Amino acid sequence: MPRGSASFNKHKAAVEQRREEAQAQFGPKADFFGLQGGQFAAVRFLEEGTEIAWASMHRIPVAGRQWPQDVVCLDQEDDGTPCPFCQSEHKGIRARSTKGFYNVIWRGGPAFQAVNQQILAQNQQLIAQQQPPQPTYTLAPVYKRNEWKSPEKDQQGNKIILGYADGVFLWKASKTVHDLVVSKDGAYHGLCSRDFVIRRVGNTKDDTAYYIDPLNVEAGAQPMSPEDQALVREKYDLEQFITPMSYETATLMLAGNIPTNAGPQPTFDRGGMPPTPPPAPGQLQTVMPNPAAPTPFATPAPGRSGQ
Ligand SMILES: [Zn+2]
Repeated sequence: MPRGSASFNKHKAAVEQRREEAQAQFGPKADFFGLQGGQFAAVRFLEEGTEIAWASMHRIPVAGRQWPQDVVCLDQEDDGTPCPFCQSEHKGIRARSTKGFYNVIWRGGPAFQAVNQQILAQNQQLIAQQQPPQPTYTLAPVYKRNEWKSPEKDQQGNKIILGYADGVFLWKASKTVHDLVVSKDGAYHGLCSRDFVIRRVGNTKDDTAYYIDPLNVEAGAQPMSPEDQALVREKYDLEQFITPMSYETATLMLAGNIPTNAGPQPTFDRGGMPPTPPPAPGQLQTVMPNPAAPTPFATPAPGRSGQ
């Protein structure tokens, strides 16, 4: 039997991770951006200003699902549009919270793989000097996919990762993170203006915090590369995620009459597949990110062609 608070916290983090994933994946399918506590990732937001999508959501229990699922409130304009979830006798279902939906290019390509290699090399020296190692970037995975383009899973239920590459992912964010995202959009005159580093601290809904800072604080605005422009064509149609279902469907769903796996198998058909990935670095898990350690911000941002 696992014992001690460390293993308990690890278990709690794993449960929370599965809960978040289950909630995120209800509704249209997508590759979701996600970090665990202590991880860093570099992203380029693909919406800014009035393009930034959000919706008021309810959370409802669904038959056959372990955790409550987010559904879009039918009264998005607060104009009294009848919403079965708002009319529920259960306080937990009536409660609404804002969720943000963002397309991001999650970095995982050769430039960031090279930075990670540099960090790992430096860490050898730091460890020899008995200093804490620096965290590496968590890179965007390239999943093995089935004929419907859905990620394939191994026997433990983990998505099979073939390698790492820049790719378009959907970030579904809590209200706290959404407020932060909107404030950064204002502070930097457009979220799409440069790459940002996302850092997550904590693993449960009670202790999780996010930090969003420019990848390169001195560089200022940086145009997207031609490769980024090509990836933009794979953006998700965010309307799918923030458009409410009909009143009738919502009523049936509340009554438990809608099996969640009903309907045709959704596909990931949204343009081209990511380029063939390089081999996985394979060393990412060897360094335990240390929140107190210097951050990757201190590492020079990887150069990108055309800048
Ligand atoms: Zn509602």
